[in-house]
Amino acid sequence: MTTNETIVVVGGGVSGLTTGVVLLEAGLPVRLVAEEIPGRTSLAAGAMWGPYLVEPWAKVREWSLASLDVFRQLAEVGGAGVRMVSGVEAARHPVETPPWSELLPDFQQADSSELPDDFVSGHRFTVPFVDMPVYLDHLRRRFSDLGGAVEQRVVHSLDEFADAAAVVNCAGMGAVGLAEDSTLRPIRGQHVVVENPGITEFFSEDTGLSPDLVCIYPHGDTVVLGGTAIDGDGDLSDDVAAAKSIIERCAAVEPRLADARVIEHRVGIRPTRSEVRVESGRCKGGVPVIHNYGHGGAGVTLSWGCAREVARLITSRLR
Ligand SMILES: Cc1cc2nc3c(=O)[nH]c(=O)nc-3n(C[C@H](O)[C@H](O)[C@H](O)COP(=O)(O)OP(=O)(O)OC[C@H]3O[C@@H](n4cnc5c(N)ncnc54)[C@H](O)[C@@H]3O)c2cc1C
Repeated sequence: MTTNETIVVVGGGVSGLTTGVVLLEAGLPVRLVAEEIPGRTSLAAGAMWGPYLVEPWAKVREWSLASLDVFRQLAEVGGAGVRMVSGVEAARHPVETPPWSELLPDFQQADSSELPDDFVSGHRFTVPFVDMPVYLDHLRRRFSDLGGAVEQRVVHSLDEFADAAAVVNCAGMGAVGLAEDSTLRPIRGQHVVVENPGITEFFSEDTGLSPDLVCIYPHGDTVVLGGTAIDGDGDLSDDVAAAKSIIERCAAVEPRLADARVIEHRVGIRPTRSEVRVESGRCKGGVPVIHNYGHGGAGVTLSWGCAREVARLITSRLR
């Protein structure tokens, strides 16, 4: 690997690691540079496959579908922290069928007997669930096994990599500084991880734009309980009161959770903008840069599709 053939990927969250793996699998040499590996926001994700609240839909559909396919295969093989889980998404008001329902073969109206008290509508479907600590470890191992190099440090400017063949910006919220993108905004999210009292199906409430979410995501021995979505808040510290209220909201739906032992609190910042940014440009010194950030609350869902688009953009640039 010579320096001027190397693709530098900035960011060690799900976007950076997946992009690194896809580029290495395409035969390109990659150096991943990041302050935190894995990225803290990626570690905090639930993570359920679902292209929620991200645009533009035509691209989001294609990216989500690509990831759905990869996650299905990973769930079948096992060992990567990915499993297919069935369950119900319900609402206390009538809801429309989401556009992504056509991507899921078993998507159907939930029977009223499946809805908790006070809920009036819902859907039943099966989607991939990703146990993020296990999955990010899988990605990191895969990256290293493919020969990827890792450097853990802060990057002050994308222009630092004057000798690279290209730079890929997967910095999540770090893109505010690195890409001078003031349209990127934080949406803080918090989860509580508890010991699983025997839950095998997921439940999530369609709460619209409320900051108080309800989600119950089983991952074998543990369940991830959520959550919050506080727009404009980039604070990463644990909020004890929010955690208590998350457990109360989830226990109101699933009483077995009321006394479940708390294992861990996770906080992350959804890097949100009006549209996910996957596009190419140039650093000040002329090195091609491909941006891959702004995935909001769906970065896991979009990860494989976006990474493949980055690979397409890079190979067309290097040809
Ligand atoms: C509570 C919560 C629940 C979520 N649930 C889901 C879900 O169910 N499904 C789903 O699909 N998505 C979910 N998400 C969204 C998902 O977590 C994010 O979209 C995704 O993790 C973004 O990944 P990323 O790699 O782009 O960013 P990050 O994970 O934030 O990684 C950014 C990386 O860039 C590095 N970096 C930044 N700036 C610099 C710099 N200057 N120098 C060096 N390194 C830098 C960081 O250290 C880090 O390694 C959730 C998010 C939260 C917070």
